[in-house]
Amino acid sequence: MHTFHQLMTLLKREYGKPSPPPAKGPFELVMWENACYLLPDDRRLDVFEALRRQVGLNAESILSAPDEVLLPIARRGGIRPEVRVSRWREIAATTLNEFAGNLDVVLTRPYAEARKALKQFPMIGDPGAEKILLFCGLASGLPVDSNGLRVLERVGWGRQQKSYAATYRAVQAALKPELPSNSDRLVEAHLLLREHGKTLCKYQVPLCDQCPLAAGCKYAAGETFRRQI
Ligand code: SF4
Repeated sequence: MHTFHQLMTLLKREYGKPSPPPAKGPFELVMWENACYLLPDDRRLDVFEALRRQVGLNAESILSAPDEVLLPIARRGGIRPEVRVSRWREIAATTLNEFAGNLDVVLTRPYAEARKALKQFPMIGDPGAEKILLFCGLASGLPVDSNGLRVLERVGWGRQQKSYAATYRAVQAALKPELPSNSDRLVEAHLLLREHGKTLCKYQVPLCDQCPLAAGCKYAAGETFRRQI
């Protein structure tokens, strides 16, 4: 099996240096997560940048924007735009009421408190909160999305458990001794694993014959039970 460092070297050779999302700071990153649901990144970017241009990416502007402005933008993010608008207003109201309009204050809190604070927002669970903190330079382990988790579990970190949450914990525990401490490298790892899960290590049929990780991958060697996550 590859070391984590080898894994990252191979993925970087395959995909190049990944670009982080354009969202900066906790508030924008929460809005980024809520810009659309299960759509490609280019659609998410379209909604996010329309919000920035037409409304302003701050709590006051979003809360005071009328439906006539927010709904057409939300429609660009897929079905149920009313739900999205409601979530944007909830994010803005919580930021104003709980954080005096400045969500950056969570970055001054101890890690566990900061994660708990971010989980107040819609669509943000533990992995999402940890990812936001990572993009803001605060790292504790390597937060991964479902794509990254699938890659790591198939390659051989951790074993699949009965639930997604238990598999997530198992993979995190297995990874821990090998993780870099530098948050920039962790951001890069998060993005590369996500890209690999979307591009080659696909959910239904992984393209192992094209994969640069195949020589050190337990799934490709048939050593792991082939159930999907
Ligand atoms: S060899 Fe196959 S299962 Fe392993 S990481 Fe590559 S695509 Fe995924």
